[in-house]
Amino acid sequence: MGKQILITGTGLGGLTAALRLSARGYQVRMVEKNHSPGGRLNQVKKDGFTFDMGPTFFSMTYEFDEFIQDAGIKMPFTFRELDTLYAVNFRGTEKKYFIHKDLDKLALEFQDVEPDFKNKMQRFLKSGEKFFNDVEHKILKKDFDSIWDYLLAMTTVPPRHLPRLWRTIWDEMERHFESREVKEIFSLVAFFLGGTPFDTPAIYSILSYTELVHDGYHNVEGGMYKITEGLISELSKQKIPIEYNTEIVDFRSENGRITTLIDQHGNSHKADIFLINSDAAFFRGRVLKDPKYTEEKLDRMQWTLAPLTLYLGIDKKIDNVPLHNYFLGDNFEEYSKNVFKNSVSFEKPYYYVNVVSRSDPGSAPEGMDSLFVLCPVPDLRFKPDWSDKDQIVETIISDLSERMNIDIQKHLVSKTVLTPEDWAKAFNLYKGSGLGLGHSLKQTGGLRPRNFDRKYKNLYYVGSSTIPGTGLPMAVISSKLTVERISKNHGLLHR
Ligand SMILES: Cc1cc2nc3c(=O)[nH]c(=O)nc-3n(C[C@H](O)[C@H](O)[C@H](O)COP(=O)(O)OP(=O)(O)OC[C@H]3O[C@@H](n4cnc5c(N)ncnc54)[C@H](O)[C@@H]3O)c2cc1C
Repeated sequence: MGKQILITGTGLGGLTAALRLSARGYQVRMVEKNHSPGGRLNQVKKDGFTFDMGPTFFSMTYEFDEFIQDAGIKMPFTFRELDTLYAVNFRGTEKKYFIHKDLDKLALEFQDVEPDFKNKMQRFLKSGEKFFNDVEHKILKKDFDSIWDYLLAMTTVPPRHLPRLWRTIWDEMERHFESREVKEIFSLVAFFLGGTPFDTPAIYSILSYTELVHDGYHNVEGGMYKITEGLISELSKQKIPIEYNTEIVDFRSENGRITTLIDQHGNSHKADIFLINSDAAFFRGRVLKDPKYTEEKLDRMQWTLAPLTLYLGIDKKIDNVPLHNYFLGDNFEEYSKNVFKNSVSFEKPYYYVNVVSRSDPGSAPEGMDSLFVLCPVPDLRFKPDWSDKDQIVETIISDLSERMNIDIQKHLVSKTVLTPEDWAKAFNLYKGSGLGLGHSLKQTGGLRPRNFDRKYKNLYYVGSSTIPGTGLPMAVISSKLTVERISKNHGLLHR
């Protein structure tokens, strides 16, 4: 009989950990507060339309390949590489910049605004590549036992990369490019991490290398929720049970070990080992009452931007709008610096639009289109009151109508809106922060909350707010690191 392990949460981190552990002979069970699996990798179905709820594309597909091999299963979904990565439009202009992996095609997009673009971009990407190769295995995909362990690993990174620690992504852009268009577009990677280019360390401009050279961007045939569905079907083949509508709210411990987790109905869940996929910082504070993670201390940490998301069904097809689009304004620096603190006006919002049905025609009824809109907004620490949500949503829809040249309101047949309050409630996301803990230097690598508990010897964490960070490939790496740690501490039961 294998050791029993209980996983709290069925996000990508939890699901991939479950399959990795099962392959190692552990007896896995899962509990999930919602009635369906996937966490943020979820879907919204309404009025004949289907939308991906959160993630729409990702990089580093080879992390999924590694996971499939480790778990000993067949890939249960199909990646699709995006040809045009995304398009960007600035308010007040008709022009759209199309971002391609092909450098010659990309250079044509910027020939009017950035002289010698190709050479400058090659230099920028080359330096990103060197950095990526120097940190991928030493830092990014490494687990750390202590801060000292992390600092020691940092000393093995060539010193020429050190300035990236104190420079920001924006500084990095300024070193390589001149035009505002190029600097703003290629610093959008900071928003993918839930931050802004003005507060995200330049180490993360590595993402430009992963998007343009290394692995590009991918989505999944039939929609991103196929990832969750595919993993769930593997779990059921292996008879790994999931108890839905079960939220862990309390615990019991004995001699420095957790003995029982307790759900909202007062039911006890016992196991030998406990793995938490609920946000690692939030769980430590809310459920464990760890004094290092009180609300006051959590509030002082850096959290990623909160999402305001719109799921719109319209009764006609939109022409000339590609799959992924960023609609930016004309005050990038001011907007970015203030959007965290609610001191921006949403009269001129910045947002991302995914024309879901462009890539998956089955997601909308015949002759119709489905749109997913994501507007980064302040989390509930800075904007606790969302009574003005209808007004903000109306502004976004009318701005989008103007820029896409279609009266969306007139053609709207389905509308769902999720505010940070909804996101917080649905998945226990701290104050509605969409991507979990931010990626400041103090919250990077060995300085992020660990994947093991400092007090309880049989308690571990997996997912966005522990190492290495946020995003789908990071959740998959996170499950690798945590499962390796569990196997090391509790034994490799079989392979
Ligand atoms: C709007 C949005 C857009 C995004 N876009 C992208 C993208 O395009 N590409 C990309 O790579 N990433 C994207 N991300 C980030 C990505 O979704 C996350 O990094 C990833 O899905 C997190 O997985 P996870 O396993 O860490 O956590 P989660 O998905 O949050 O899973 C945690 C699970 O635990 C459950 N849970 C929480 N507390 C308890 C409890 N006490 N008891 C029981 N269950 C509990 C939750 O209900 C949830 O199911 C996006 C995120 C958002 C919000």
